[in-house]
Amino acid sequence: MTKKSPNTLLIHPSRTVPPGFRSLVPGTERASTVLFENTGKWKTRSGFDESIYTYGTSGTPTTRDLQNRIAEWEGGFNTVLFPSGLAAVAYAFLPFVEPGDHVLIPSNVYDPVKTLANGLLKRMNVTVEQYDPLVGAGIAAQIKPNTKVVWVETPGSITMEVSDLPAIAAAAHAAGALVAIDNTYSAGWYLRAFELGADISVHALTKYPAGHSDLVMGSITTKDEATWRRVKDMALQTGQCCAPDDIYLVLRGLPTMPLRIQHTERVALDLARWLATQPAVKLVLHPALPDCPGHEVWNRDFTGSTGVFSFVLHDQYDADAAARFIDALEFFGVGASWGGIGSLALTYDLAKSRTNWPHKGALIRLNIGLEDESDLRDDLAQGFAAL
Ligand SMILES: *Cc1c(COP(=O)(O)O)cnc(C)c1O
Repeated sequence: MTKKSPNTLLIHPSRTVPPGFRSLVPGTERASTVLFENTGKWKTRSGFDESIYTYGTSGTPTTRDLQNRIAEWEGGFNTVLFPSGLAAVAYAFLPFVEPGDHVLIPSNVYDPVKTLANGLLKRMNVTVEQYDPLVGAGIAAQIKPNTKVVWVETPGSITMEVSDLPAIAAAAHAAGALVAIDNTYSAGWYLRAFELGADISVHALTKYPAGHSDLVMGSITTKDEATWRRVKDMALQTGQCCAPDDIYLVLRGLPTMPLRIQHTERVALDLARWLATQPAVKLVLHPALPDCPGHEVWNRDFTGSTGVFSFVLHDQYDADAAARFIDALEFFGVGASWGGIGSLALTYDLAKSRTNWPHKGALIRLNIGLEDESDLRDDLAQGFAAL
């Protein structure tokens, strides 16, 4: 057609933009409808074919760009994105369990995983059993013929125990179970999950990859194609996807992630060592320090630490004391999550959530942000003054 009406031209312009634009910045491609060249191509499309695009839910070039970068940095087959870290955790279980199956999670697991275990998984008649994060090869005693997934979170994001991933993976694989790891602590930067035996690596991209406390997103990366297909299938069935604008923000955060991690690593270690010298502190739980349970495993398996760690106060300091400490801080915000720009502090009631938690004094978990180190140390000194 040569003559088009103005309203048609707004949708199908006759002047097109020149091709060949290149920039260091990834593009942000948005879509519900993806256009096909012809009906034949439409008819033969498949949501599993990642060399083509089919619909907004199955991804745009922006989606594929982030998937590829994550899969490449982790050394996995491919990645599926989810609208939050917790959604990614759920999809590390859902494709692999049926009613009557059994899965294992560590007792120090990120708390919402216990809610998932007692909620949806229970409703599906999947039995979830907890194991001691320091059990190592001893986990074999808890693995059953119907154990489908062994979930590992290392270090635990509050009490910081470091698990022996290779030993757990060997026992799980011997029984035919998959090993899935919550790799959020080091963003996979300091832990090679697949080389150490994991089949599935989950990230809360919300944390270090996005890095700026402004979005939530998660990812599942698999070691092999067959596992990826099962995750992708479940994601397609239930329409799991992320907005390209959010994905762009993660793509924007990624190049600076190693620098941000190195900065928080250095500051967190300095502050952890300083905290260990404070009279009110009984114990510092930082995987790079010898008092942390599983420190030897950390030395063997990790190439660095990041900005989240905890410390335990002496027995006389209860939850109210911890609250006084935290509320006296100026730069440490009170709130969930970590790996973003600002420092955070929280206390947890471990007597309630853990069996056999050995410490009477309160635990305080810190996330070290990007503020100046001496300002943070002075701020923590204000906390001790308020105790
Ligand atoms: C934050 C977090 C998650 C969940 O990520 P969201 O994007 O906040 O849902 C899962 N696991 C760990 C260890 C986390 O710290």
